[in-house]
Amino acid sequence: MQLNSEFSTPDIPVQKIADPLLEGTGVSLSILRTDLIHPVVSGNKWFKLKYNLIKAREQGKSSLLSFGGPWSNHLHALAEAGRLFDFKTIGLVRGELPAPLNSCLADAQKAGMLLEGIDRSIYREKDNEEYLQVLQQRFPDACLIPEGGANREGATGCAELTQFYDEQHFDLVCMACGTGTMLTGLASVSAIPLLGFQVLKGNNYLGRQVSNNFLNFGLTSHCDWSINDSFHFGGYAKTTEELMGFIKRFEEVNNIPLEPVYSGKMLYGLYELITKRDFFPQNWRIIIIHGGGLQGSRGFL
Ligand SMILES: *Cc1c(COP(=O)(O)O)cnc(C)c1O
Repeated sequence: MQLNSEFSTPDIPVQKIADPLLEGTGVSLSILRTDLIHPVVSGNKWFKLKYNLIKAREQGKSSLLSFGGPWSNHLHALAEAGRLFDFKTIGLVRGELPAPLNSCLADAQKAGMLLEGIDRSIYREKDNEEYLQVLQQRFPDACLIPEGGANREGATGCAELTQFYDEQHFDLVCMACGTGTMLTGLASVSAIPLLGFQVLKGNNYLGRQVSNNFLNFGLTSHCDWSINDSFHFGGYAKTTEELMGFIKRFEEVNNIPLEPVYSGKMLYGLYELITKRDFFPQNWRIIIIHGGGLQGSRGFL
């Protein structure tokens, strides 16, 4: 299968958010609907996988191995991408595999992914060279992809998102950040400032991570970028009733689905900055990148 043309990026719509809550704020919001790309390989995970899969094909690898938690959007997307593009897939899951499998892992298994639960103390070694060498010996045909697709290939793929909004002259691009790989990729090509919302707890944890990403991926930033670390709601995948209420209202009013791990927190934070803190200059036009990953919502039902 022709990977490059298969991965030729689908067109992604930019949609205006006409929300009564934003009236009179002087700020206009639009959203890049990457959640619409593909029902499973959606959002930024599509872009993060693109060059990883192209590399695996070039290296003649027949399988893809990666890491993730039990609700990982990354493993979920990887399993389906493997099925679509004829790679075997291996998912190393943090902790014991839930029995029965949750819907995320069940989907991955159905798409052909071989799942293995990894003891948390070993899982912590997921970026350790020695551990990776052991895995490579055990799975010689596998291309190893870091958790979350957090590598140069992942960032380079995300950089391609700019083509969908570049010509519309926005003042700022907002996104939710886990590993900051998407932000790193966008900053390497963007002329527009970027604002990332950190979804994990930890004082400016992500600012340091993104700086490291530039070094580790061999990329340089071409724009101003900053990280807001105030809207993690207690940590990764932690939620509150207030957050869930915000998401429900947003979805009903705007007819755009969110999930509470990433896009829900970003939009909550952004609305707070716009409507309560008067954070942005008048007449600013902001574009939000919808990260996709809606399957993750099922973990909160
Ligand atoms: C993975 C993911 C992100 C975060 O991307 P990073 O490059 O890790 O910062 C944001 N939103 C959604 C929905 C995701 O699945």
